[in-house]
Amino acid sequence: MKLDVNVLRYLSKDDFRVLTAVEMGMRNHEIVPSELVDRIASLKHGGTYKVLKNLLKHKLVHHDSSKYDGFRLTYLGYDFLAIKTMVNRGVFTAVGRQIGVGKESDIFEVAKEDGSILAIKLHRLGRTSFRAVKSKRDYLRHRRSFNWLYLSRLAALKEFSFMKALEEHGFPVPNAVECNRHCVVMSLIHGYPLVQVRELQSPEVVFERILGLIVRLAEHGLIHCDFNEFNIMIDDEEKVTMIDFPQMVSVSHRNAQMYFDRDVDCILKFFSKRFNLSLEEQIDNTDNSEEDSEGSSRPCFSSISKSVGFLDRELAASGFTRKEQDDMDKFVKEEKDQDQCSEDEEDSAGMDETIVRDVVSLHLLDQPGHTVEGNEEEIKENRQSCEGQLSEPCCEAHFNEVNIYGEIF
Ligand code: ADP
Ligand code: MG
Repeated sequence: MKLDVNVLRYLSKDDFRVLTAVEMGMRNHEIVPSELVDRIASLKHGGTYKVLKNLLKHKLVHHDSSKYDGFRLTYLGYDFLAIKTMVNRGVFTAVGRQIGVGKESDIFEVAKEDGSILAIKLHRLGRTSFRAVKSKRDYLRHRRSFNWLYLSRLAALKEFSFMKALEEHGFPVPNAVECNRHCVVMSLIHGYPLVQVRELQSPEVVFERILGLIVRLAEHGLIHCDFNEFNIMIDDEEKVTMIDFPQMVSVSHRNAQMYFDRDVDCILKFFSKRFNLSLEEQIDNTDNSEEDSEGSSRPCFSSISKSVGFLDRELAASGFTRKEQDDMDKFVKEEKDQDQCSEDEEDSAGMDETIVRDVVSLHLLDQPGHTVEGNEEEIKENRQSCEGQLSEPCCEAHFNEVNIYGEIF
């Protein structure tokens, strides 16, 4: 996905105000009517429509008139809101080259004011699986189609929370720096995904280390669930770092054994194919080594002593609630429709909740085929985090700096 942060330099305070208004409107609208955008943004000198046209030109919003006339945020628009918030917070000042394209994410380098480099992961849930889910079930009918915002935000929050908790427990993971909307900022790993590594000085050691990680995770009550050569980074010293955590589950999950065995199998298969290593050889080779022997025979889920409570305790402590966990699980497993989102209470200065609520009932209740529950509790539940801070001055000076770092993609 193209992310031309140059555009950020040309966006005015009003542009961001209107973009944030669209985001707010999407709390309870699949498509936000322009009157609602106008009322939420309440620009001093008017001109919302002109601004919307500009946002449309830059592909930050999408115009949709299939059911009723309105706008929705695009991923690019969501990216810009998150990037702006992080730049304003001083997390980084410049966005650099793309360093990774995952199944459901884009990863870029970002630079801090002091020149040091971090990585930003922009979650894009819906790029693959959500579309598939959507085609199977009619989310649109129940105004669920904007759930990609919520789900991507959840994926980011879950990843951030896990990264933090795992780091605190001494696991080799990137340092979790900041999370906003669907973006996670973390330390940059100076290495390569294992899938790109053709040669290792000590493949046996790396093999054991990686299997040992699966076991240690389980001891802490966790299963990675996507533990493979794409999500393991190796540096020049052959140090292993694991990444990519949105799909992790607890060892108390009913399919825990299967997920655990699948993670182990992925590693066994890869090392067998790429480095011609198997566990039997491993036992022979490491008999006299000082390595911890726990990885030298196939890790067995039932014989690991696990601290089952880790997941709930640690994640709740870091802001990822049980409810959010459940929502993610429902989405990931495609078992049933997503629940309504429950959002943290974010300050959304300048935004008038009553306007959002009013217009829900004014404009959409009479739309045929639309189910719009406008009651207060539900709207509260559906509260999206809007950190665009409408009353905040738009920091154009900062955004000029977004361009200082290298190439814009
Ligand atoms: P996805 O969830 O979409 O699979 P990943 O977190 O696995 O995304 O990241 C995709 C790719 O981006 C990785 O394979 C890796 O090459 C790169 N990457 C991700 N995080 C970092 C990081 N912190 N430092 C360096 N490269 C990274
Ligand atoms: Mg990955």
